[in-house]
Amino acid sequence: MNNTATNSKRQLWKFHGGIHVPDNKEQSSRNSIEPAKLPSCLVLPLKQHVGSAALPIVEIGQRVLKGELIAESTAFISAPIHAPTSGIVTEISDALTPHPSKLASACITIKPDGEDKWIDIAESKTNLDELTLDSLAEIIGNAGIVGLGGATFPSSVKASTKNINTLILNGAECEPYITCDDRLMREHAEKIINSAAIIKRVLGANECLIGIEDNKPEAIAELQRVVSKSGHSGIDVVTIPTLYPSGSEKQLIKILTGQEIPTGSRPTEIGIVCFNVATAAAIYDAVTSSRPMISRIVTITGDGVKRPCNIEALLGTPISELIAQAGGYSDSAEKLIIGGPMMGFTVETDQLPLTKSVNCLLVVSESEIPTAGPGMACIRCSECASVCPSSLLPQQMYWHSRAQNLEKAEEYNLSDCIECGCCSHVCPAQIPLVQYFRSTKTAIDEYNEANAKNERARLRNEARTARLEKLDAEKREKSRLKKEAMQKKKAAAAAKAAAEEGGKTPEEEAIEAAKSRVAETSEASKPRNTENLTAEQQQQIDQAEARRKADSAEPSSASEEK
Ligand code: SF4
Ligand code: SF4
Repeated sequence: MNNTATNSKRQLWKFHGGIHVPDNKEQSSRNSIEPAKLPSCLVLPLKQHVGSAALPIVEIGQRVLKGELIAESTAFISAPIHAPTSGIVTEISDALTPHPSKLASACITIKPDGEDKWIDIAESKTNLDELTLDSLAEIIGNAGIVGLGGATFPSSVKASTKNINTLILNGAECEPYITCDDRLMREHAEKIINSAAIIKRVLGANECLIGIEDNKPEAIAELQRVVSKSGHSGIDVVTIPTLYPSGSEKQLIKILTGQEIPTGSRPTEIGIVCFNVATAAAIYDAVTSSRPMISRIVTITGDGVKRPCNIEALLGTPISELIAQAGGYSDSAEKLIIGGPMMGFTVETDQLPLTKSVNCLLVVSESEIPTAGPGMACIRCSECASVCPSSLLPQQMYWHSRAQNLEKAEEYNLSDCIECGCCSHVCPAQIPLVQYFRSTKTAIDEYNEANAKNERARLRNEARTARLEKLDAEKREKSRLKKEAMQKKKAAAAAKAAAEEGGKTPEEEAIEAAKSRVAETSEASKPRNTENLTAEQQQQIDQAEARRKADSAEPSSASEEK
């Protein structure tokens, strides 16, 4: 099959695999976005994003205003947290959050005072024409904006990238049931297009492509209408075929540009930046109104709620109160899923807060989404590999994940798994493949973290040993110098005493002793057999001496004779 398709305006490409699933979007997409009621309390996890957790800068009992910074970013990949409404900080402690691990994490709890009073934000101070790459990234970073498509990667990191050719806005929203981006595009098309124009200009991108699946005709029409009316050039609203998971970043890039992102690389490395349409809208609010990220639109849907809808709610709002606003649970409600049916995860309680990553609360009946069984033996049909959009071998990854062979699982590029769930969906043996992959990835992260921790401890220990050795060497040198100084001092004192007594100094005594040793040696080396000679002996000596003299005078004449 040709791997390209033709769009009305431009060529499209096809990614490997993917599946067609019933989209079930009409339940929640009919009505406009509703504002949420002010909640009874707000619980704000310090880690609602990829990267390091934010650090609280408020105390229990402190009054805060809407939009006030309550926890600051702690690293390049991190994001701050702001108070979603005015009120009192009542707790800073661990609480349950909507996370697949089901573990508690550090949160700030605010009791709203009902006034919903804003801090004094610098209203529209930014001169859009003077916005630079650095100032845009700073505004986005200070506003705590993260990817709202579910990835929650801090947007300031992407926005600070140079050498970008293509800006992509992701309006695909391919996951079944979810319609928050669809409603946003229909109702706030101008905001999205204006944001696209700002980001495109600041990044220096040549084009902006807005990819939307063809099951959202109203959103496509509205964005196209706004683009034509706005006069912004280089912005193209591109209709793409509905195929799950076309909204995944790498797959959307492939569809729109034909480019593949290599394993371990980011799109920015090939000159592409991709933002979700809701993230682009949040960037516009931050740039034009200094508004931090304090709310998000969430879809509340499924047979298990009485009135499926989309609500713009304050971050930290209890999920139970959002479901109540959606009419409450219906009689068929069986399971609460955070996210969609493909990539979401089931939770056992609704006493959890809304966070930046939660785009959908799906309440389903057992018949709507049956609980997966324990799974049977793999029959090696390779269906999983044929639908995998990352071109992986899920069957092999499953065996190694099951055996907890992390190294082998990594060899099969487990890190490239986008956890889309296509493999689990088609597996005839009903093996919960994606669950294995998630837990193995967590195990690999923990293993790597433990290794990194050990390495840090080793380096700390080496540094400590080196520091102690240096201190020891310095101590020894100091002691040697001190000893030497003492000896000199002693010698000087002795010299002084000797001089005062008229005697000789130790140096003078040493020199004299040396001289007398030399004299004794030279005396001893003199010949000893020339004294007390007899007359006969003396005569022999004299004769020998005379011969020696004669011999030394004769050689020249002797040689002349020859
Ligand atoms: S789809 Fe299921 S049964 Fe078939 S090869 Fe993959 S894991 Fe095995
Ligand atoms: S969950 Fe992972 S392995 Fe399974 S189809 Fe998706 S990307 Fe492939």
